[in-house]
Amino acid sequence: MAFLTLTNIQKSFGPVQVVHNFDMGIDKGEFVSFLGPSGCGKTTILRMIAGFETPSGGSILINGKDQGALKPNQRNIGMVFQAYALFPNMNVHDNVAFGLKVAGATKAEIDQRVKQMLGLIKLEHLADRYPYQLSGGQQQRVALARALAVKPQVLLLDEPLSALDAKIRISLREEIRQIQQQLGITTVFVTHDQEEALSISDRIVVMNAGRADQIGTPFEIYNTPATRFVASFVGTLNIIEGKVADPAAGAVTIGGQRISLKEPIAGFKGGDSISLALRPEAGSIAENGRGDTALPGEVVSTSFLGSVIRTKLRVGSDIISFDMFNNPGMTPPVAGDNVTLRFAAKDLLVIRE
Ligand code: ATP
Repeated sequence: MAFLTLTNIQKSFGPVQVVHNFDMGIDKGEFVSFLGPSGCGKTTILRMIAGFETPSGGSILINGKDQGALKPNQRNIGMVFQAYALFPNMNVHDNVAFGLKVAGATKAEIDQRVKQMLGLIKLEHLADRYPYQLSGGQQQRVALARALAVKPQVLLLDEPLSALDAKIRISLREEIRQIQQQLGITTVFVTHDQEEALSISDRIVVMNAGRADQIGTPFEIYNTPATRFVASFVGTLNIIEGKVADPAAGAVTIGGQRISLKEPIAGFKGGDSISLALRPEAGSIAENGRGDTALPGEVVSTSFLGSVIRTKLRVGSDIISFDMFNNPGMTPPVAGDNVTLRFAAKDLLVIRE
């Protein structure tokens, strides 16, 4: 049985249901991210695990024990929020010591544990500082140490990095992951940043309007998105609109050109619209681009987005948006260029919902 089990969780605020039939088992030591846009219900699920919200239906078990009747402070859960939420009138040592004091630990136990925790986050030298004397990143590390000091059975992280600047965000997420693995603590992380979720998680739950669209490893979520929403929310995937020509033969048309996907397309009939995803690295408009499929087109517009160049192509009567990876050796396309988009038909992925 999983260590943290969420069974058929429902949550409504008044007449509005914000979480629908959510089921998931999270293993001991696993790092799971809830990823989705604002308002999709990810924080509400986290708050139900913590006991700050009561589910309208379903059950939450930790280590086999039903949490329904337990108050937040009885659940032995550590939590870190987006806003630093340290006690401003206490120094770093006392902030980290707080939960241990409440639990009635002796001074010697507290001092030893605080020292250990400050060692873990590499801030031993700042034990006497007050929160206002720390950077945002340092405050979040202290918040993490405070949450971990009481040896919680589950760690909940609610967008803990979103108030930090980009560089610190990346280094701190690596540090969080390393500490989590070192301690083997079961962790649930909420974020709206797909790169963050992909880089840090064992598994990701992609939430869409109160439901889990897909639960899978970062590799599965990125490479085989289950729905159109997942495909468009997680990373740079090109969605190409086509028509089904012959479902049994796996044939579609894009920009009037017939392309064989090599496999029958179950669940579609001839003439249906179909969405196909193509990863940027799977296609190219370079002269030496490879693949068994070539779509001649004209560049309508381009925008340089750093790692990718978003290119709109007119292919037949269709406009295809194609993100290609930036490569310093390339000549970027410009509007009016006649190009050929090349890819292997087997790399086209049918998006079903
Ligand atoms: P964000 O990233 O913006 O925090 P989220 O995905 O975490 O978004 P939730 O905070 O879980 O979303 O909110 C889900 C929905 O529930 C939203 O529509 C929100 O307005 C609503 N909601 C959350 N808390 C309450 C509440 N206490 N009373 C009424 N509605 C609420």
